[in-house]
Order: sequence, then C-alpha cells, then structure tokens
Amino acid sequence: MSETKKITVATTWLDGCSGCHMSLLDIDERLIELAQRVDIVYSPLVDGKHLPETVDVGIIEGSVSNEEDLAKAQDFRRHCKFLISLGDCAVNGNVPAMRNLFQLDAVYDRAYSENVQHNPVRPDDGVPALLDVVKPVHAVVPVDLHVPGCPPSADTIWFVLSQLLDGCVPNPNEVTRFGA
Ligand code: SF4
Repeated sequence: MSETKKITVATTWLDGCSGCHMSLLDIDERLIELAQRVDIVYSPLVDGKHLPETVDVGIIEGSVSNEEDLAKAQDFRRHCKFLISLGDCAVNGNVPAMRNLFQLDAVYDRAYSENVQHNPVRPDDGVPALLDVVKPVHAVVPVDLHVPGCPPSADTIWFVLSQLLDGCVPNPNEVTRFGA
C-alpha cells in the first residue's frame, strides 16, 4: 500500500507570547490526524532546529521587533512555499507594537535604566538589537495567508490546516474575524 506523501510544515515564534503555538496544540486529538498527514520539520515544538531548503507551509507567530526576528521572517519566506501569519502579533503587531508609541531610546531606558537598581546597562552583546518600530510580518516579507486572533482558536487553526491539506486555500474569515 503506498503511503500518502506528507506535507512539510515549519513554525516559528518571533516577538509573541507562544500563545498561538499553544492554541495549535489545543487541537487536542486532531493532532493525531495532523501527525499522519504533516511532517513538522522545524519548530520550537519539535527537535528539528534546521530549516530545510524547501518547506511546503511556514507558520509565523509574533511580530518583527528585532534584527533576529527580521532575519527569521526572511529565512522563512525564502524557504517556505506558502507562508502564514498566525495571530494578531504577526498580522498587525498587536501587543508588541504598543512600544511604537515611544521613541526607541525611551523604550531602552525604560527597560534597562529606569526600572533597574543594579548595574543599569543597555545590552549590546548576545541580545539582538531592537528595530526602531515593531512591524507585522507582511511589512517585511510577502505573506500568503493571514489568520487573525489572539490567539486564533484551535478550531480556526484546524480549519486552516485541514483546508490546506485538502488542497484548498482557506478563507479564515469564514471562522474568525479581526479583533476576535
Ligand atoms: S497573537 Fe496573542 S496569543 Fe498570539 S503571540 Fe500574540 S499575544 Fe500571544
């Protein structure tokens, strides 16, 4: 009996809280069906930490807030045939983008000087530099599908994934809405 070829999926989180990934895990027993049809080749949730040359579907949680986020988003776009922005942080900046109301120096001062009693110093080693403003993923790379929600519900994520597995381009508006 020939085995159906699995589609490959990579996921990552940028500036987010990991809640969108937790919502993915909340599809509960449907994870078994997912595992039968999908090979998760790279993700914070699995051991694979090397992004393969070509991946069928890439899923990005979180906004683009620092240089490392930017490089990761560009890497996903280069390697993933179909790229999904998952959750409001990725779709519109959401909570991380609240810092856009302030100048970058004020953000650094608040985090590393004003509220620090011992050795208040701005890190310049081992910590990626912040971008001047937080951006949604589509502001730095083309995105094929936006899935709003904070987080998108497990049912929404399942809808999107199962539609893709069936060879359709899902319309998340059928199951969610911005600000939901
Ligand atoms: S959209 Fe909400 S749940 Fe997802 S990473 Fe952002 S804050 Fe967390």
